[in-house]
Amino acid sequence: MNKYEAVCDFQFKESQIKDFFCPADKGLVEDIANKLDVGLVEFIEYESDQTEKRGIPEQHLVYYEAGDGYDDYEIVIGDRRVIGGNFYFRAYPKKGIKWSAEDEKAARAFLNALFIVKSRTRLHEKLDYCTFHDMQTGNYNMAYGISFINDKIDRGIISQYASFFINIRNMTDVNKCFGNEAATQLMYLYAAEFEKVIGKNECFWRIGGDNYCALILKENVEKFISLINEKCISYGDRDRDNVKMSASAGIYMLDGFITRYNQVLDGAQSALAYARYVVRVPYVFFDQKSAKLMEENRSMELHFNEYLNAGEFVPYYQPKINLKTGKIDGGEALCRWIKNGEVVPPMRFIPVFERSNLICELDFEILRRVCSDISNWVAAGNEAVPMSVNFSRRHLSNPAIADDIAKVLDSRGLDHKLVIIEFTETESVTDQKRLTQVISRLNELGIRTSVDDFGVGYSSMTLIQDIHFDELKIDKSFVDHIGSGDERKNVMLKHVIAFAAELGMECIAEGVENPEQISMLKKYGCLRAQGFYFAKPLPREEFEKKLHEEPFVIE
Ligand code: C2E
Ligand code: MG
Ligand code: MG
Repeated sequence: MNKYEAVCDFQFKESQIKDFFCPADKGLVEDIANKLDVGLVEFIEYESDQTEKRGIPEQHLVYYEAGDGYDDYEIVIGDRRVIGGNFYFRAYPKKGIKWSAEDEKAARAFLNALFIVKSRTRLHEKLDYCTFHDMQTGNYNMAYGISFINDKIDRGIISQYASFFINIRNMTDVNKCFGNEAATQLMYLYAAEFEKVIGKNECFWRIGGDNYCALILKENVEKFISLINEKCISYGDRDRDNVKMSASAGIYMLDGFITRYNQVLDGAQSALAYARYVVRVPYVFFDQKSAKLMEENRSMELHFNEYLNAGEFVPYYQPKINLKTGKIDGGEALCRWIKNGEVVPPMRFIPVFERSNLICELDFEILRRVCSDISNWVAAGNEAVPMSVNFSRRHLSNPAIADDIAKVLDSRGLDHKLVIIEFTETESVTDQKRLTQVISRLNELGIRTSVDDFGVGYSSMTLIQDIHFDELKIDKSFVDHIGSGDERKNVMLKHVIAFAAELGMECIAEGVENPEQISMLKKYGCLRAQGFYFAKPLPREEFEKKLHEEPFVIE
């Protein structure tokens, strides 16, 4: 075989080469180099034109070196920009060999073939990188996460793992406080803390925005959780460059019944939604039982409109009692789902609909029904009492929400004073701003407002400093401890009632279950209450009946 044939032969085999350093491929290169009297083959790579100008190579590798050395006469192939840098191949003749023009041509053809192989492998590397990495952060991406999960399912070891769905908390507020660039930087640094604790057989990847996922061995779950709770991140040298970051997470303890990657992610995602919107804790664990629940939840969302149109969502009314007179002076509409004759409580479906904007449709359905019921009561000659309707914070993204509510009232010709809109407090600064706007617009429209579950969140005080609510509903947890001997809670309760009065808000206690609570509330000056002691939430007809009954006797 002459040199020309040897090069052709090599070019023919070139497509098999994957990695110059694996023994088979290395053998191919050695073989041809030997046949062409090549003494040394080098590969040099510069990351950019700048580093090339400065003569600082990113890589300088020897692909082949003959045992008896080489002569310092080089030929170079390269000088072309390839993805990720400029690279060159150099060949030198064997020691003591002088190449003819034909020999040199053969050596060039050989280098050219190497160049093609390198370009191809580099392109594959880059493609792999782009396929499996998030371009913004360099973290693994969803495609990588899915392939990682599938691998564990295929190998039958998925039950050794827990999946995490992580949302970095309050990124909207971090953005506002620190600006977009610093906030993004903080998010990267925080994510890097998670990456640090990831083991070889575990995986952490970004889904997008401030959402990440992880597949963690069950025995390592605790160390991961410690990062979720709180981590101080420094993004500069100054004191104020230290920021406490935290996250919410859903944790799905996987079992051997998992057959599809989306079960792994859905379980964790539902757990996250449950943690954030229902129990409002930093993280929640999920298991098979909860996964079944999740399937039901999905079906609920899917068929929501059918249920709505069939009139399956109805308000039940819980009376509000004036503690001086014992009379019912209002009520709260609480949604019930009448499913196949059974009454489904709201905690089973409200959190599900709250994950999307379905809750907004539901709230308006309840509002419409409440307005119809009130106008029917008035039309029948009854004295009308104001009714509270719960509105989800999800409505805050609708700038016209207050006017939309007014339209419903107006379409039933209802006095605006007869409806009270209840909102719960919100931790997010953005939502709080929007809430302020919504409440002041409702004030302008003469529609009364109430702050529900007051005292359980972190922002209760700031909320009522800035916003005028007509009513403040003291959360059941304050009422529950009455009689428990917890003096601190008693002091809190007393002062909440006092400042509500001073700020011109009507105070009402919820969840009253015994006469002892009533007398304590009265003593502190809270003169309205609602709770099972008086009545549970009742179907419309029963509430109507209650309106006509004798007042409650209050000692
Ligand atoms: P909430 O608005 O704080 O309503 C008070 C909840 O406490 C009601 O639960 C009521 O039945 C319960 N409750 C009242 N008195 C007592 C008592 O003495 N003891 C005990 N243990 N519980 C008492 P319910 O009806 O299960 O509603 C739960 C939550 O679901 C509501 O809390 C509200 O946040 C939400 N919700 C209900 N209906 C709607 C709705 O139409 N729209 C929206 N967005 N949320 C709703
Ligand atoms: Mg309420
Ligand atoms: Mg409440």
